[in-house]
This record gives sequence, C-alpha cells and structure tokens, in this order.
Amino acid sequence: MISEKMRNMVKNSSAIRAMFEEGKKLAAVYGAENVYDFSLGNPNLPAPKEVAEALVSEVENCDALTLHGYMSNAGFEDVRQAVADSLNARFGMNYDSSCIVMSVGAAGGLNVFLKAVLDMGDEVVVIAPFFGEYANYVSNYDGKLVVVPPNPPTFQPDITAFRKALTSKTKAVIINTPNNPTGVVYGKETLTALADAMRDAQKEYGTSIYLLSDEPYRELVYGGAKQEYPAKYYENTVSGYSFSKSLSLAGERIGYLAVNPECADFDDLVGALGVATRVLGFVNAPSLIQRAAAKCLDASVDVSYYEKNGAALKAIMDKCGFEYVEPEGAFYLFVKAPDGDDIRFSAEAKKQRLLIVPATGFGCKGWVRIAYCVSPETIARSEQSFIKLSQTYGK
Ligand code: PLP
Repeated sequence: MISEKMRNMVKNSSAIRAMFEEGKKLAAVYGAENVYDFSLGNPNLPAPKEVAEALVSEVENCDALTLHGYMSNAGFEDVRQAVADSLNARFGMNYDSSCIVMSVGAAGGLNVFLKAVLDMGDEVVVIAPFFGEYANYVSNYDGKLVVVPPNPPTFQPDITAFRKALTSKTKAVIINTPNNPTGVVYGKETLTALADAMRDAQKEYGTSIYLLSDEPYRELVYGGAKQEYPAKYYENTVSGYSFSKSLSLAGERIGYLAVNPECADFDDLVGALGVATRVLGFVNAPSLIQRAAAKCLDASVDVSYYEKNGAALKAIMDKCGFEYVEPEGAFYLFVKAPDGDDIRFSAEAKKQRLLIVPATGFGCKGWVRIAYCVSPETIARSEQSFIKLSQTYGK
C-alpha cells in the first residue's frame, strides 16, 4: 500500500496529468494541430548548437574513465570552478568551486537544499502564486509551507504580509524571479525589501533564515526588464539554477546550487548538500551533461522567440478583452478568469480545445497560466478558439 503522504501528492498532481491525458484524447478526435496545448513549461526551441558541439567534444576528448565514472557528490571540480568563475564575472560574486553543488535540474537542487536544512515542523515561506511543486518538496522533508497571499495586479510580493509570515520557525524562504506562473521580475526595490525583512526577523528571533532563490528563468528576461542577482542583496542566499530553460535541456536534468560564501554555517551547509545529493539517490548530477553545460555557460536560446510569442498572445488577449499581467520574463502569461473562477475558465477553454492551467494549484485562485513556449503557428491558430472562449463570457 502506498503511504498517506504519497497518496496526497498523487491526488494533488492529478489535475495537470488529467489535462495532459485530456489533451491526448482531444488530439485523437480533432487532430493534434487543432488542439492548443498551453499547459506545460516544456521549451519549444532546440538547444543551441554549442551544446551538441560540447557533448561531442567531451566524448571524443575526455578520458572515458573520468567521463563516465563516479565523482565527488557535488560534481566535477573543474565544472564547479567554471560555474563559479562565470557567476563571479557576471554578478560580481566571490564564489569558488567549494560553493557550487551540481544538481539534477532545479528540482533536484531544491530537494537537496530542503533535505539539508529542514527539521520536522520547520517553516518554509513561499510567495503566491508559486511553482506548485514547492508544496510537495517541502512536505517531503516534514517542513511546513507558509504561503504569503498573492498581491494582484502587480504580483510583486506584499512586504507587510511577507514580514508577518516570518516567525521563529522560519528556516527558509523560496523566491522565484522571473516568476512561474506570472512572468513578473523582482527588481532592486523588491529584493531590498525582502532582504531587510529577513534580516529583521533573524535579529528578532536570533535565527538564520536561508533564501533559496529558484532561478531557472534567469536568462529569459525581456525588453526593459533587468534580472537582478538576489544573492547580491542578502548574504544567506543559496541560488538554484537550471539549464532546462536557458539551454532547452529540460530532459537532461542539469543545474546547480551556488552557496554564497557569506552564508550562515557555510561549511556545514555545503557538506550537507553533498550528502543530501547522495542520500536522495542522485549520487551526483549526470556527468556528460555536467561537462557539456560547463562549456556553454555563455550560450542561450534565442530569448526574442519567447518575447515575440508573448506579444502575439497578448494581442489575442487584448482582442478578447481578457486581463493579464505584463510578462517581463519566463514564458507564461497570467490571465484573469473573467468571473473569478479559474477552474471553470480552464474547463470552458478545454471546450474550445485550449489547454490552460488554473492557478489554484499555484496558490492563486481566479487566474490561469498560459505557457507560450509553443510554436508561433500554434498561437496564431488558437486565436479563433480564444475569441469563442471570450464570447462565452459575453465579451
Ligand atoms: N522551479 C520553477 C519555478 C520551475 O518553473 C521549474 C520547472 O518548470 C522548476 C523549478 C524545475 O525545473 P527543472 O527542470 O530544472 O527541474
């Protein structure tokens, strides 16, 4: 029999899976090209050519025993040094290889971090709307999720509510900028206010509060927006990165944690992250893609592709009279359900063969997420369906 904890996770994860299954059924009836699947954040661009070149070069030139053998749990020393050098050059940090732990994507990094720091009942503060998996990850390690309510229409965090959420039991705060699902980017002012609040709470309770900055969309920032580096604002920061989105390598499962050398209990923490990598059964991040990623730290997919997709989708929303949050990064459009019922909005959309995700699962009732990491043709073809959807709401 499966565990009670797992039973809850299975129940909670069934909505997106049901949508995925529904999509397949609709595709069988109407043809795949007539179903508009905006449900998943799976990049629609191929990895940059540098990735294939690096993979071939590693296979041809790296000693096979080194390339395919076990290594330190934190990853190859030279790969970690390359990541540290790149972050130091870009963000003025002071990392060395000991600060970097290679991870199995952002998801692996988040799990390793939480495994390393949480005791039973420790609180982890998240800001709604948030990547729904955080709830499962925190409960995996017997932590308690504390949710700061959403703050529409800007979806920048409500700092007063954030301050209230910090208690003597707060072990960590997770932020995610650029944000999934809103596309919002946190600027200087927001990061300074969050850091001040955490420092005040640390002082008040005599504790350490870690900031886990979940940054899989760091490179996907548009137009005028600028992605700040949260670790520059708060010393107790562990930055979690992933190559899933910036290099379209979601299936390869590669990322890293970068621990600020100024972090509380630095030596204990990096040691624990290595052991957590082993105890969770990852042992180490996959070796070949680790080495290839280290050669592609300055490469990126063409971000303007996502920006153009976003613009095309916004134009359709404008025609339909649907309200949305202006995205500054990532590849999600956050749209308001006209009658405040996101579950119904998503169900009505499905009748028009549009697959969009209700944000109730992201801790934000009344909104839906439309992932625009799809082809421009899919967006163009979906227009009539969105118009019909708007008509069901009397628009
Ligand atoms: N964090 C956020 C905010 C995400 O959106 C995702 C994936 O969509 C992840 C973490 C997990 O990413 P990865 O594929 O690197 O595990």
